[in-house]
Amino acid sequence: MFKCDKCGLCCMNLRRSKIYSYLDRGDGVCKYYCENTHLCSIYENRPEICNVDKMYIKYFSNDFKMDEYYETNYIACQMLKENFVG
Ligand code: SF4
Repeated sequence: MFKCDKCGLCCMNLRRSKIYSYLDRGDGVCKYYCENTHLCSIYENRPEICNVDKMYIKYFSNDFKMDEYYETNYIACQMLKENFVG
């Protein structure tokens, strides 16, 4: 399973990808992101595009090994941490 450290930066930077635009509350932050807890308020029922493991199975498993796919996602996490403040 993908090890999300719950920083919330992906949920606060939705403008980085158009596929998340329908979740944007208007300022780049997801309408389901809870700023008090720094967690997703619908986590158990979050969209497929927010679920790294489901996305792998559905779209990427034919082209990438799981560890390669995870590593790419961890790099994206690190880029957010280095370049964008929550
Ligand atoms: S639905 Fe949840 S996991 Fe997806 S971007 Fe919004 S807060 Fe984050």
